[in-house]
Amino acid sequence: MDLKDLYRDVILDHNRQPRNFGPLSPADASADGHNPLCGDRLTVYLRLDGDTIRDVHFDGKGCAISVASASLMTEAVKGKDRRAIANLFEEVHATLTGDAATPPASLGKLAALSGVREFPARVKCASLCWHTLNAALAHECAPVTTE
Ligand code: ZN
Repeated sequence: MDLKDLYRDVILDHNRQPRNFGPLSPADASADGHNPLCGDRLTVYLRLDGDTIRDVHFDGKGCAISVASASLMTEAVKGKDRRAIANLFEEVHATLTGDAATPPASLGKLAALSGVREFPARVKCASLCWHTLNAALAHECAPVTTE
């Protein structure tokens, strides 16, 4: 099995069975995200302990990439603090946009999103959940729109 097949299987698996899916209540913070180019709509819910994400859920409707990306993100950020999440987001962004030649090992399963770089229109689908997470961390209640 080559890497591309492996990545595709991870995306399909997380789209079919999204992890941490559904509202979290009570939540300490939440934010809504919308990608008008594709129609993806996500809500990210957080339970925080100081700077650390104790629990994170998402719900909403979107394409396979947006749902799989959000599912992978929830697994990746749980238990991390703001600083670690900011670093991780930078690596994800570099991978999505092709600035990083190969996904860094620290990305773990998030590396599966690297195939998205071949489809520039889908980068916003994959990054929507991260922008929504950042909005929730900023305790912003206003909807965010990716540009
Ligand atoms: Zn999409």
